[in-house]
Amino acid sequence: MNLPTFLGGVHPPECKELSEGKAIENLMPSSGEFIYPLSQHIGAPCSPLVKKGDRVLVGQKIADSEAFVSAPIFSGVSGTVKEIALKMTVAGNFDTCIVITNDGMYEKAEPLEKSDPVKMIRSAGIVGLGGACFPTHVKLSPPKDKPIDFIIVNAAECEPFLTCDDNLMRACPDEIIKGLEKVLEIFPNAKGVIGIESNKPEAIKIMTEHAKNSPKISVQPLKVKYPQGAEKMLIKAITGREVPLVPALPADVGCIVLNTATTYQIYLALEKNLPLTEKIVTVSGDAVASPKNLRVPLGISVKELIDACGGFVNDPVKLIAGGPMMGLAMRSVDVPVVKGTSGILALSKKLAYLSEESSCIRCGKCVEACPMHLEPTFLDHAVRLRDYETFEAHGGMNCIECGSCAFACPASRHLVQSYKNGKAAVNEARKNKAKAEAKK
Ligand code: SF4
Ligand code: SF4
Repeated sequence: MNLPTFLGGVHPPECKELSEGKAIENLMPSSGEFIYPLSQHIGAPCSPLVKKGDRVLVGQKIADSEAFVSAPIFSGVSGTVKEIALKMTVAGNFDTCIVITNDGMYEKAEPLEKSDPVKMIRSAGIVGLGGACFPTHVKLSPPKDKPIDFIIVNAAECEPFLTCDDNLMRACPDEIIKGLEKVLEIFPNAKGVIGIESNKPEAIKIMTEHAKNSPKISVQPLKVKYPQGAEKMLIKAITGREVPLVPALPADVGCIVLNTATTYQIYLALEKNLPLTEKIVTVSGDAVASPKNLRVPLGISVKELIDACGGFVNDPVKLIAGGPMMGLAMRSVDVPVVKGTSGILALSKKLAYLSEESSCIRCGKCVEACPMHLEPTFLDHAVRLRDYETFEAHGGMNCIECGSCAFACPASRHLVQSYKNGKAAVNEARKNKAKAEAKK
């Protein structure tokens, strides 16, 4: 069957068989320290609303910000605030965190107060749970002159190893559909489409069956190709529309894209008045004894997840938060699960092997693979020469850091690292320019 997709992309080994089809298990430890970084989203960090010694409950708001682009943070356990201190996060940085000693009672706070749906989604602390962490209430507040035609649920789950969305669709199809229906009430002229890669036939079958009574919602199977789940690629495959280059947004072409877990969380907020306190995380990789999908309270230590999966079997040489293509390399398992954590991977030397970088042979494979139609080799060259103007002029800021070019490169060029450096340098230069202009 000719399934819709986008131009470019790659086919990394899927490695999903390790955890797919396994029912989601709940992990609720009876003790331990739970850690909540104050910045778990794109936008302004939160400020603590609790202090050392305070008793907190599950679902109690512990941090918030007045900024529009921000989202509050809730405790996933009941217990006592031990301290507010700098702690390491999954990215390996040190961030101010609220540390709560879990009393194992899981005593619940009062549910959220009902309000306008978009306000309620903010009050529930919902952000893009696929890893992007963009506050969902901001996505659901497009400019008035941008009519929305499509609400797309991103159920592609194109990253290798990850199966948390697949298993969530199998376990909670009605909840995801109700979450989407709730969003469609906010945008009454829009249609809902759930885009699922065709390597999840069970999820496609279940979601299609359960969407039958929702005339505005359809399920669209998609070709299996990485990065099918990137917003622009998903919009192209489902609607045929091209999102223009940065700074354009999906709303510019009448679309809003929500992750599967985000849509499920919208259901919990709007139907059950519950804030975001839990996360479903795929724990996988060939160094994990028994890969699983676990439902865990936010703030739990990654080490607890690994232990719940039987610990390590092979020596892990690489730990990744997220998928292997776009995830973050971790320095330690003593870091907390946050809103954006959808996977924890532990890979042995066999899978994490990195060949030596060699000279570019100008084969063009990176150009063929780039879903953003950039010239990766040229951009890499510009960054290595510290020619950031050329990098910017040739669209470097549009790179979505998907890693398709690096995957395709026979010379193992460290391309994504190069673009990250290039983008950081351009952003720094822009900031400095703005500061200089403000001084004038
Ligand atoms: S240049 Fe950027 S967008 Fe293009 S393939 Fe490489 S990482 Fe992906
Ligand atoms: S794929 Fe690698 S070797 Fe080939 S042109 Fe691109 S950077 Fe050069």
